[in-house]
Amino acid sequence: MSPEQRLHITNASVLDVERGNVTPGQSILIESGLISAVGAYSDVERQAGGAPVLDAGGKVVMPGLIDGHVHVTAATADLGAMSEWSPNYVAAHSSRLLADMLRRGFTTVRDVAGADYGLAQAVEEGLFLGPRLIFGGKALSQSGGHGDMRTPGAVTHDDHPCCPAIAVICDGDVSVRKAAREQLRTGAHHIKIMLSGGVASPTDRVDSTQFSEAEITAIVEEAEAVNRYVCGHAYTARAVNRGLRMGVRCIEHGNLIDDESIRLFVENDAYLVPTLVTYERLKQDGAEAGLPVVSQEKVDLVLYAGLEALNKANKGGVKIVFGTDLLGDMQIHQNQEFAIRGRVQSAQEVLRSATLTAAELMGLEGKVGTLSAGAYADLLILNSNPLEDIAVLADPESTIDTVIKNGEPVSAD
Ligand SMILES: [Zn+2]
Repeated sequence: MSPEQRLHITNASVLDVERGNVTPGQSILIESGLISAVGAYSDVERQAGGAPVLDAGGKVVMPGLIDGHVHVTAATADLGAMSEWSPNYVAAHSSRLLADMLRRGFTTVRDVAGADYGLAQAVEEGLFLGPRLIFGGKALSQSGGHGDMRTPGAVTHDDHPCCPAIAVICDGDVSVRKAAREQLRTGAHHIKIMLSGGVASPTDRVDSTQFSEAEITAIVEEAEAVNRYVCGHAYTARAVNRGLRMGVRCIEHGNLIDDESIRLFVENDAYLVPTLVTYERLKQDGAEAGLPVVSQEKVDLVLYAGLEALNKANKGGVKIVFGTDLLGDMQIHQNQEFAIRGRVQSAQEVLRSATLTAAELMGLEGKVGTLSAGAYADLLILNSNPLEDIAVLADPESTIDTVIKNGEPVSAD
């Protein structure tokens, strides 16, 4: 939206995620891509003075959604194979994946391995249609860790920044600090590390712990030195609790957490980003999407515990962020996460995780995830009210009437 552009949305039923209510008959004034006023028509009208009007027709208007765990370069679930693709080809896929996410209602996404400053710049400059892209560059993995896609017989791993591998391999104090600094110097918003084994990696065990305590501490120190934070991939309570004790501020997945984890999350003011839809889809479509057999077998291990972990964390007062983690063609199921979470969380709790809490994790409170003056004009006009049934967001095609990012309506195709 160019600086002089304005838009006056009238007749909106504004959904307030904080209060958990909907106020009909509201006006929203947008100027230069930012929300400048929200309120009764008569109040906003004076300020709007002749700005173009978009009549929301009484529909529900809410802040644009935030997905706190995506991989916008993961055009395939076979991340090992992808690391040898042309970076230009991967970028072409990312352009498509980003546009699709925006059309599904996500106006901000947090990429936790893969996206770099170049993709963020492409979106920022309008070269690619997509959500605001909060990136961490490549993840950090130990040798044989979750970011190490080498088969047992392979020796080399290309860590060159231009290669589309989602992780760099680093071991020992000097190497992990350098790897963290290399991501941070490109403007990374966070550093992603692998704290345990995972599903999509060929040689590690899901129940392993990864990186030594000294290595984790060193990476946390590097991130905190520049006022950034470390997020860690971890499934088991052993790996999660170890990471939280070492200063990792955000845990990705956390399917197998225990009561001690809940205590550590709350005590350290840390965040949990469950990603439940990915296991449901990996089980159903994994093979077709390119997930190797050895990885398919790991899915069951983490699938069923995930909902119980979310329930436990929610009841225990942990700060929960919406995330999906889908790879390859499975990304079309991104919005199914809303329906899955609705089984154990209230609609307002799920909405909060995909707006206010996600914004807080990224340090973007008041800028995204809210419809208040001063925030980016990222919003959704909906045909139904997700506070009444959160599952409506699982069906974006029929639920979302219009996506607006930066004050501009996004075209449907
Ligand atoms: Zn992930």
